[in-house]
Amino acid sequence: MNNENITALRNNLVDMGLDALLISAPSNIRYLSSFTAGADARLLLTLEEQFIFTDSRYREQAYLECPEWRYQEERPLTYEKLYGVVQGLSRIGFEEAHVNYATYRKLEQIQPGIWEPVAGLVESQRRVKSAQELERLRNAARIGDEVFQAILPLIKTGVEEKVLADTIVHLIRQKGCEKEAFDAIVVSGENAALPHGRPQDKPICPGDMVTMDFGGFFQGYAGDMTRTVAVECAPKRLRDTYQKVREAQQIGLDSIRAGIRGCEVDRLVRQCLQKYSLDQYFSHSTGHGLGLDIHEGPTLSASSDDLLEENMVVTVEPGVYIPGWGGIRIEDAVIVTKNGADIITHSTKEFLIL
Ligand code: ZN
Ligand code: ZN
Repeated sequence: MNNENITALRNNLVDMGLDALLISAPSNIRYLSSFTAGADARLLLTLEEQFIFTDSRYREQAYLECPEWRYQEERPLTYEKLYGVVQGLSRIGFEEAHVNYATYRKLEQIQPGIWEPVAGLVESQRRVKSAQELERLRNAARIGDEVFQAILPLIKTGVEEKVLADTIVHLIRQKGCEKEAFDAIVVSGENAALPHGRPQDKPICPGDMVTMDFGGFFQGYAGDMTRTVAVECAPKRLRDTYQKVREAQQIGLDSIRAGIRGCEVDRLVRQCLQKYSLDQYFSHSTGHGLGLDIHEGPTLSASSDDLLEENMVVTVEPGVYIPGWGGIRIEDAVIVTKNGADIITHSTKEFLIL
């Protein structure tokens, strides 16, 4: 799989008139080389050769994980070995979103005038997933479903949001993920009006909605799902609003297929909420790509020109957040297919009163 990616990337470099690309983003490093400690490494891909730069702590790991990349040992945060390798090259791309100014200055010291900022090159290749990547994403989603199933009996009056969030994190790891893909969100009652609120020591109260958004990395690939449930009883407004968000989410799911634009999916979802005068409370975009990063391309938002293609993986996650009242979000992850969507999160979306 990696070899095809590298050939495609080299072709892109040739098209852009670049001799090489310096790769700094940990997820791009993992994608191209399978090296799992990308935060402490860099890759240099030339048209003929490929190098991995890291320090002695990772020597064995680099030989094991990416034997086809030439190992270049250097002290952390130095570019000692890069100097030798870039001699004779005249235009080298660097990932502008992942190189800070101090590093850029160091690169200029190594060899001035050859560094070209490049945006989203490897990221755009990562959008369409291979069979192996899809399998990993399916596993991450399956584990999310299992975690949801396991957490339901624990959601009851008096339990603190933070305790539920900690338990979710524990379950994510226990059920086979390396770690959580992002800080698990558990927000209840009025706190649920914060789309990305932090779990507090607030106990769950009767009549609260509880929104849980979580996911883990399975062999590097992220899971991401959200469900909102009610505890003990559900006021009419909560029940009604839930069904409206669910309807909007279903419209989003139904619209997904190869060939539709991200903005179109977002528009259809927003239009549904508008029908109920709830669109003003839907403050974020409809969805995002999912892969080695929890948020990656394509984007399902009002301003997104991204064209969905077969085997891209995206979330569909409308929510409404009403200050002083609370919030509801429902999120699934789907694989884009030729004519539709293969939903990989399977947890129920029936309105649950626990
Ligand atoms: Zn989420
Ligand atoms: Zn998400």
